[in-house]
Amino acid sequence: MERGWIANPAEHRRVERSIPVEAIDGMFGGAKVIVLPYPPDDEWFCDVCNAQILTRWGDEPFPVPVDGSYALCGDCYERAGGRWPIRGCVCEGCLPTIKQWKTFLTRLLDG
Ligand SMILES: [Zn+2]
Ligand SMILES: [Zn+2]
Repeated sequence: MERGWIANPAEHRRVERSIPVEAIDGMFGGAKVIVLPYPPDDEWFCDVCNAQILTRWGDEPFPVPVDGSYALCGDCYERAGGRWPIRGCVCEGCLPTIKQWKTFLTRLLDG
């Protein structure tokens, strides 16, 4: 993924965690995959400045901007120019959220 959004950060991570290591082992030039312990599903940190990222707004998932494999906080997103294309992660965790999220994000970007 280039620049886009993780529609449902907590569910996205839950799906990511559920992928068995055997499924991806050897896929990266035969390298052994090492799984690091994941933080709680809704705890995300900016890959640029390490600030905590907002992943919920009340009970609703709050979309996280990503640049390639980097998740960004609001400040770094603004610094990177903001207004990224509404192109969402379609992982099984984000997919159910995408329709609802598109309306929401359109409003957010237009506001
Ligand atoms: Zn940041
Ligand atoms: Zn996802």
